[in-house]
Amino acid sequence: MQRSQDAAALWRIPSLAMPHQLRHLKTLEEARRLLWEALPQHIREGRFGGRETPIAEAVGFVLDTDILASEDLPPFDRSTMDGYAVWAEDTFRASERLPAQLEVVGEIRMGEDAALSLSHRQAAAISTGGMLPDGGDAVVMVEHTHLREDHSVEVLRPVAPGENIVRRGDDVREGEAVLAAGHRLRPQDVSALAGLGIAAVTVRRPRVAVLSTGSELVPHTEEAGSGRIRDMNGPALQAAARALGAEPADLGLVTDDPEAIRQAMRQGLAEADLLLVSGGTSVGVEDVVPDLIDSLGKPGVLVHGLAVKPGRPVVIGLVGEVPVFGMPGHPTSCLTIFRELVAPLLRLACGDRRNPLTRVRARITGNFTSQAGREEFVPVRLRQRDGFWEATPLLGPSALISTLVRADGLVRIPAACQGLCAGDEVEVEPFE
Ligand code: AMP
Ligand code: MG
Repeated sequence: MQRSQDAAALWRIPSLAMPHQLRHLKTLEEARRLLWEALPQHIREGRFGGRETPIAEAVGFVLDTDILASEDLPPFDRSTMDGYAVWAEDTFRASERLPAQLEVVGEIRMGEDAALSLSHRQAAAISTGGMLPDGGDAVVMVEHTHLREDHSVEVLRPVAPGENIVRRGDDVREGEAVLAAGHRLRPQDVSALAGLGIAAVTVRRPRVAVLSTGSELVPHTEEAGSGRIRDMNGPALQAAARALGAEPADLGLVTDDPEAIRQAMRQGLAEADLLLVSGGTSVGVEDVVPDLIDSLGKPGVLVHGLAVKPGRPVVIGLVGEVPVFGMPGHPTSCLTIFRELVAPLLRLACGDRRNPLTRVRARITGNFTSQAGREEFVPVRLRQRDGFWEATPLLGPSALISTLVRADGLVRIPAACQGLCAGDEVEVEPFE
């Protein structure tokens, strides 16, 4: 007995050092709920990470505030055609055989004040978008006119009052609510904002700080080997955050030195809305992230350990108002947990009401077993055959990123399920 304890201490066998939390693993669902309930009100209402952003860069993001027009669009009455500004009444009986003859009193130049006024039986040449003169209430298309050498114009068809013009404020009226908070900006919205002179809007673009920990890590731009591997989680988590519309902040990487990790986490907490720390979350001696989360502020660790494969050693905490995730070190586990835990939170917190997952029904092509008591996410390849989708499980150690690279999506195996047989129908969550 004594001997085996010594051996365990020597080899740092995790089960002996296992804190009580890890023996009571939470389900993904429980973890999501615990975190959600601990979040501050504004995040739960979907108002997370509001950031003033120039409108052309704001496309694809969700508005954080209602937008009211502070002026009319267009700002003056404009022609929608090339032609002549006229009084409609003067054209009422015009025809090819009996044109209305009007005196041309001038030309309205683009970009200039109309600076002339029209009396009855007068016309002014105008281009599309030109400012209408004082007087006149319609524009005759140039195709329906004939200019004579004596500076008069023959109008060959009648126009109705208001024809071929847009009035000041027809598009958007001053004081009108143009766009509502929660709306995802599209190019046409940016166009309207630009027309109204709104240069920047507040959109939900949470800043997600990303820190990699591990004494074995080197930046991905440096040489690996001799026990050192390149940091994969840092770039991957930044990419995953960016793909969701968040703004990644790179905290770089630190060794397994608790003080160095604490400093970097502090920096992340100060400058970001959400903090992701990968590595150092399991129960080895070097794994200090849970204690650091607790030491950095209240309420601290909410969940430590998930009944999920891959990705058991996850820590979820809240420091003040900043959610902090201790992500598993294995790159595949890290990304699976991002997708199943962090991404749904980010979406909800940013008020994204779109359905996040389109699922594909497919038939599994091979048998595989799954450990009961843990929800499992199995990477699969999707192929179409005879009008049906087939999902081929890609089994292998979770340490291999190439498995995820070859995969087209994940199949979720519920905790109670002990495996699947070839031909079983499953729902695949495809990667975007
Ligand atoms: P840990 O969670 O720190 O125990 O790490 C689990 C495994 O993931 C170890 O094999 C680490 O070397 C590996 N790992 C941790 N962080 C990274 C990273 N940023 N990039 C690539 N592999 C990592
Ligand atoms: Mg580590």
